[in-house]
Amino acid sequence: MTEANYRGRFAPTPSGEMHVGNARTALIAWLDARSRGGTFVLRMEDIDGPRCKPHFYDLILEDLRWLGIDWDEGPDVGGPYGPYVQSLRLADYDEALKRLEARGLLYPCYCSRAELLAVASAPHGLASEGPAYPGTCRHLTDEERRERERKKSPSLRFRLPDRAVAFEDGAAGPQRFAPGAGGDFVVRRADGIVSYQLAVVVDDAAMAITDVVRGADLLDSTPRQLFLFEALGLNAPRYAHVPLLCGPDGKRLAKRHGALSIRALRERGVRPEQVVGAIAAVSGLHDRPEPIAARELIAGFRLEKVPKEPVVVDEAWIAGLTGG
Ligand code: GLU
Repeated sequence: MTEANYRGRFAPTPSGEMHVGNARTALIAWLDARSRGGTFVLRMEDIDGPRCKPHFYDLILEDLRWLGIDWDEGPDVGGPYGPYVQSLRLADYDEALKRLEARGLLYPCYCSRAELLAVASAPHGLASEGPAYPGTCRHLTDEERRERERKKSPSLRFRLPDRAVAFEDGAAGPQRFAPGAGGDFVVRRADGIVSYQLAVVVDDAAMAITDVVRGADLLDSTPRQLFLFEALGLNAPRYAHVPLLCGPDGKRLAKRHGALSIRALRERGVRPEQVVGAIAAVSGLHDRPEPIAARELIAGFRLEKVPKEPVVVDEAWIAGLTGG
């Protein structure tokens, strides 16, 4: 199948070393783009300055190349929709904030972290975030705002429309989120940093992304992003959220499960084909747990082959990969 208009992307945050779990998401997003004859974009999501380090940024590019994943547009190769680095796109986010502001969709929020934690008994928010924002600052009078402004600089929240959101997810199937799920969310933090939700929407639209393939941990961000696309008058892409790789304890694969950063594996002398083969075998993309080059998986790839449930890997799988 060839879809020349398909534009997919991988959008890592350079706040740590790339892990087997992120590598798997990158591989699946890349295979989806390549198997459909589309364009693959790499975008560096380094907007949260203090957490992101140039060292990780370089390492991610190196690790991806080592794995055999390439991109048609990206920070190092450029392209028609650049720059492909969020810290260089701040003016676009400001412009989007102004448009939302002009439509009366934002309001300043003065709640402190402690105040927000104190509402922990409030109705559930998004799985990824804990309690929903209860709307404390939604209805402040101008006078109350002036009063609070003296003590604290505010974050800006987006007023969530009081409507349910439904969409068809290419991996997770039909999705429906109740009205107000997660509550009004932050689009600009009190320290001035624009939120992931806003930046990702502005960039996916500006880079003409048609298909987002990413980890299931971001599934419940999608309704927020769909509301932002709508409020900004932008076209939303199709989404497919692939279940995560979990360690033997059933929790998302992480550092505690061993030396599973791609850098650590490379340093141990593990070959990229071994990593790709191990990932592919537990992801329904390769019928034997044998080494294989990423490009050899393109012809047989279909997103439907990826399991719908989180994939739990055992100690033997980890040991096989790390040689430990
Ligand atoms: N930068 C995000 C992350 O690394 C991913 C964003 C996305 O794929 O929408 O978790």
